Amino acid sequence: MKRAPRSRQRHDLYAKYHDYDSEISDLLGECGAKLLIFYEEQQRWGVNRGRDMGVQMVGPLIIKFGTQEQKDYWLPRILSCEDIWCQGYSEPGAGSDLANLRTRAEIDGGDFVINGQKIWTTMAHDATHIFMLVRTDPDAPKKQQGISFLLAPMDQPGVDVRTITTLSGETEFCEVFFDNARTSRENLVGELNKGWTMAKALLSFERIFIGSPSLAQNALGQLESFARSRGVFDDPVFRDRFAQAALDVEDHAALYARFADQLKRGETLGADVSMLKIWVTECFQRITELMIEAAGPDGGSIGPLQVGNVSVDVLSSFYKARPTTIYGGSNEIQRNILSKAVLGLPG
Ligand SMILES: Cc1cc2nc3c(=O)[nH]c(=O)nc-3n(C[C@H](O)[C@H](O)[C@H](O)COP(=O)(O)OP(=O)(O)OC[C@H]3O[C@@H](n4cnc5c(N)ncnc54)[C@H](O)[C@@H]3O)c2cc1C
Repeated sequence: MKRAPRSRQRHDLYAKYHDYDSEISDLLGECGAKLLIFYEEQQRWGVNRGRDMGVQMVGPLIIKFGTQEQKDYWLPRILSCEDIWCQGYSEPGAGSDLANLRTRAEIDGGDFVINGQKIWTTMAHDATHIFMLVRTDPDAPKKQQGISFLLAPMDQPGVDVRTITTLSGETEFCEVFFDNARTSRENLVGELNKGWTMAKALLSFERIFIGSPSLAQNALGQLESFARSRGVFDDPVFRDRFAQAALDVEDHAALYARFADQLKRGETLGADVSMLKIWVTECFQRITELMIEAAGPDGGSIGPLQVGNVSVDVLSSFYKARPTTIYGGSNEIQRNILSKAVLGLPG
């Protein structure tokens, strides 16, 4: 019997478990490569990567699925930063199991009327607009059906944003409550009740961008300067652990480069791209743990530690590394994907 090529088998397995379809890969192929080059250039010139969900997330989606009118209206505003976007996917009870979402939107004349709650919405308090998944057909037979993708203005009476303070004391994300909030029917992207395709497309996008080595590389550089200024490199055990972390970062950068090249050649990324997110986030966490150790008795101090010319907030870096294994699809979920779709293990 003629067998399908191994990559095809993997793709089919991934499709089976994750509703994967070629449209997602197309989206990555078209915009992902250009965006990746853009970010690499920014990094090469030392430009900080802003938390821009307009350029990185909703922009490519509008390019792929939006009408000409939506492209003409929204894209220039994204580029000029006139509109600042946040991502309204997660809800209490709908995180890893995103299709469980319950925020509803009902058609009323020329508008959708939105009721419900989003949570963990990064920078919602700074955003002018939200792109969101809403349930538009509660009676659809499967929970992935009956979901639509809407764009909505934040500055209106029906939207209540409450910040959540993180462990590091920052107000980085929010709860967003919708009480008869309105958005024009023209702000539906793609077809009504077909939002799940777009939800998946964006999640794929996130997987490669979160997998960039920059997070771990920057932390490693900071650890090196800090440890040198504290004389910690005199300790052979620390040197050994630092070398291990440095090798992990190098390995990751090589793996990332392989996926990035694949994307730039216009090839489809497989489920194995999940490796990137797991590796870089866990590596980042190990480096920040080493930083705490390098700080010795000051490791629990709140606020920046000044040693010579070097100023490092070790505790804040440690805290910042914690949620990286949760957002963008938790590492447990990424491991499930690898075990089923790449290794072919039973679910
Ligand atoms: C810093 C940060 C920023 C975020 N920004 C945004 C944002 O801007 N917009 C937005 O919409 N969301 C955002 N999120 C939310 C994020 O997407 C969710 O936290 C994530 O999807 C996990 O969902 P949850 O928190 O509901 O956890 P749950 O899904 O309840 O999971 C709880 C735990 O159970 C594990 N688990 C769940 N299901 C399985 C399974 N099948 N197998 C094995 N383990 C499982 C998870 O890995 C996790 O450890 C952000 C989260 C963080 C931490």
